This record gives sequence, C-alpha cells and structure tokens, in this order.
Amino acid sequence: MNQLRCFALIGVFWHVAAAAQQPFPVSAARLADISADIRLSRVADDTWRADYVFSAPVSALTMDAAGDFRRDAWTILSPGIVLANDAATNTDVVSMGGRPFQRFSVEIKSYDVAIPKAYIAVDRFSDGGRLFYLGFLGGAVASGAGSRPLTTHIVLAGRPGETALAPPQPRTGAPGAYAYFGARQPTPAGAASAIFDPAVPAWVKEAMLDTTARISRYYGQAYGRVPTPPLVMMVTMGDRSAPGLSMKGGAVGSQIAYRLGGEQFLADHPAKRAYIAQQVAHEMAHVWQQQVARGGVGEEAPWVHEGGAEAMAHDALLKTQVWTAADGAAFVARSLKRCTDEGGSFDSYDGIYACGFRQFHATGLDTAQLWRTMMRLTEQTGEPYSPHMVEHAGKEVRQGAASTQPRAD
Ligand SMILES: [Zn+2]
Repeated sequence: MNQLRCFALIGVFWHVAAAAQQPFPVSAARLADISADIRLSRVADDTWRADYVFSAPVSALTMDAAGDFRRDAWTILSPGIVLANDAATNTDVVSMGGRPFQRFSVEIKSYDVAIPKAYIAVDRFSDGGRLFYLGFLGGAVASGAGSRPLTTHIVLAGRPGETALAPPQPRTGAPGAYAYFGARQPTPAGAASAIFDPAVPAWVKEAMLDTTARISRYYGQAYGRVPTPPLVMMVTMGDRSAPGLSMKGGAVGSQIAYRLGGEQFLADHPAKRAYIAQQVAHEMAHVWQQQVARGGVGEEAPWVHEGGAEAMAHDALLKTQVWTAADGAAFVARSLKRCTDEGGSFDSYDGIYACGFRQFHATGLDTAQLWRTMMRLTEQTGEPYSPHMVEHAGKEVRQGAASTQPRAD
C-alpha cells in the first residue's frame, strides 16, 4: 500500500511538471513562479514560429520527449541555443550550454507521425486548416538549484484573414489541447460546438453529432456535471483511399479531436455507426472523467481511465439506445476475448482497454453509480483515479453508502 501511494504521488507530481497551469497544492505552487509568454504564429501552410519569453532567466527548458517530433520538426532560431534529447530521462532539453537565457525562438514544421500514447502534433484539414497540439510546447524549467513546472501563456497568431482559435481552457489539467488555424468557425452542435473537415461524409457527421448530443444528455444526467467550458469537437478526415476504417480520438479538457481515415467511411452501414458511436462515447467519457475540481485522470494504471471509459461508453450507449442490446453484448464478448488474448494483462495497449473494461464489468455494479462515486472521491481526496479508488468506490456502492443523488456542480 505504501508503495502504491508513493507511485500515485509521483504520478501527480509528474503530471504537474508536464502540464502548465495546473492548480496544485500550496506547497508546490511556491515553486511554480516562472512563466513563459509564448507567441505561436503560423507563418506558412505547414510552418509555425514560437517565440518564448520567460519571466526570469532559466538554464534549461525540459520537455517530455514526444517521439522524434522535436528532433525532426523543430529548428531553434536563436543563436547559441540548442535542442538536445536526453535519452536517459526521455526528455528534450533546450539550453544555452548551462548559461542562463530568457528568450528563444523556434520554427516548427507540421508533423503528423503517430507517436505511441501521445497526441498527433499537427493534424491537417483537407481545406488547409490545421490543428496544432499545444501540449508539446510546455514543460519544466531549470533555474538556480531546482526544476520548476513552467506556466505558459500562449498567444496565437494566424495568417491574415485566418481564424486562430485557442482551445477551451480546462478547469483542471493541462491547457495542452489543439489550437485551430484555418478558414472555418466552430458551428453550434447541441450543447457543443464543432469544426468538421469538409471532406467528412455527411452520414458520418450526422452520426457523430447525433451520438454526441444523446451521450451528452446522458452523461450530464448520470454524472450530474456538464463540461465547463462547453465541449468543442474538431474532426479531420485523413486518407480516404486507405483500406478499412480508422477513427482516433483524443480528449483534453473540454476538447475532443477526432481523426478519421479509410475508404470504409464512404458508405453508410449500421455496424460502422455502432463503431463510430463507441469511439465518440469513449472520448466523451474522458471529458466527463475530467469534470472534477481536483484529482482526475492520473499517469499510473491507465486501465482505470481507459477501461473506465469503455465501461462508461458501454453503459451510455445502451441506456440511450444508440446501441441495441445485441450491439452491447457483442462489445462485451469482443472485449473479454481481447483481454483473454492479451493474457489478462494490462501491459499491452489492447490489455489496458479490454482488461480494464473487464475489471469494471466483473464488479457487476452499475457503471454510472460507480463512476459518480469515483468522481466524488477524486475531488474529496485530490488523488487521481487509481485501482485503489476503484476498489474503494466499489465497496461504497455495494454498501449503499455512495451518494445516490448526482451532484449539482
Ligand atoms: Zn481513451
């Protein structure tokens, strides 16, 4: 137990260090006194310039490595300042040979190589619009004796006549979501707003909007919370000639970015609608998991939030009748088989989702009640969601001690 607790704390710290503007406990807040104003300008179709100005001199800016993104796509423009990868800590470090510096500029190229377990750095709309992931700009700064989390203030500048849209500022966690640069404006979509790539087929758009509206209503009711600020969806359409169908989503704060691809999106089919609905409900579950004043998604034991999102989606899709009972049963069978195929382990990507789902499914408890309790516990304790919390919440629900009323937020 001690060890588990210790890991959880490391997880929290790491999260803070990697994420600017996270409200942290008072003791940590004293350290967070260096900020950076970053002006991010789009200077060409696939070229940006980021100008950093720190509030005090620093000896290094250390960022969690994102595959080879920075090595391949970043060019430091300021003389004497270099970018290097530190393989031992898996970080990218900007420094001036140990001497203090207070500003630097970097040119950043579009980069859409998929990085395992990370967001796509820059995603493309077919009409020239781009999504730029801001989470890769922040990190921790070294100054004097120690390392401190960096608070960032990012200002966006599009090219003339272009919209530069900052992501919704999350109530907790990193501001690192996608900024949009392009010709479009978000259009209202129920309680949410959305920017769709014009290449997204009409039936896909309709299916996504319909699921989003129905699942929003359900999660709002079941968990007693509505996303603050309101949900924003960004949907890009990649390669339409690739075989099959792929849909990837990433939720940060109140923003969900979806990337679609594959020729199978061209023709409508109920099985494809069921798949789309599942992806949408899963990503939306993450948005709701993060609608807490403190705590929330942690770095350790990802099966808790991923398997949890699978369980929340399964529950919501059935309750809203977006899925038939047969769709639901097929999903459960598929997930349990995938988990068995992974040897019941959380070590693989598939295992995190499928065996995570199995953990929740095996409790036999009502998912909405269990996760409502998880949200209350994370807020009460400030600890991130964890296996221990799942156990604790399960016990509460079984004992009927859980709050049976959804909380008004
Ligand atoms: Zn997920």
